[in-house]
Amino acid sequence: MEEQFERYYELLKEWNSFMNLTAITEREEVYKKHFLDSLSFVCAKEQMEKILSADISKDELRLIDVGTGAGFPAVPLKIVFPHLQVTLLDALQKRIDFLNEVIRSLGLEGIETVHGRAEDFASNEVYRETYDLCVSRAVAGLNVLSEYDLPFVKVGGLFVSYKSEKSEEELKTAEKALHILGGEVSDRVSFSLYGAQRDLILIKKVENTPKKYPRKAGTPNKKPL
Ligand code: SAM
Repeated sequence: MEEQFERYYELLKEWNSFMNLTAITEREEVYKKHFLDSLSFVCAKEQMEKILSADISKDELRLIDVGTGAGFPAVPLKIVFPHLQVTLLDALQKRIDFLNEVIRSLGLEGIETVHGRAEDFASNEVYRETYDLCVSRAVAGLNVLSEYDLPFVKVGGLFVSYKSEKSEEELKTAEKALHILGGEVSDRVSFSLYGAQRDLILIKKVENTPKKYPRKAGTPNKKPL
């Protein structure tokens, strides 16, 4: 596991020299702000397992990371929880190329990459409402993100949004969208990570998302629900 994180760091640094993957490149900072921040998911593990009636360490849960970029948070999660069946989705082909190399080089199994926009893939029946968990970090405001992420989650599953101290405001703005899309806020787990406040917002899928959502690519961002 430690060797996999080290290899991941080396690849990130190497590929970042010829493409834009991250502004953070110093080893300790990458470990803190990308690897450990991604793994802060464990702070809400107990709450999530209760909602899912599952064991995240052992069960083969399906997890999708929407707007994964250089693989955060899902690649660190896959390293630590190898039973998870992971999909990494991103709109940028170059980042997908990087992730394919990470998967190959780290010898990860039960993980796939998908190049495209969330709005397009969430309408595809292979992906729609088939995931136990959908995670996103630093992709969009919660009102927009709900329309990207909730369609992937099956009823009874969870959408987990990584946020910072502004999450209270974001939650208010997203109330209507969550209701329309079949989501309900179950919990907000707040903690401090190296002095910065971090929030994990747990949204349970309580009803199917109406077929007309997500709207066509670009619309959720232009006209949030
Ligand atoms: N989640 C990563 C992290 O925390 O480091 C990457 C964050 S980066 C700021 C946002 C990523 O979301 C980009 O890689 C971008 O291509 C992707 N993205 C934004 N909107 C998207 C959409 N509608 N569908 C798929 N990917 C999207």
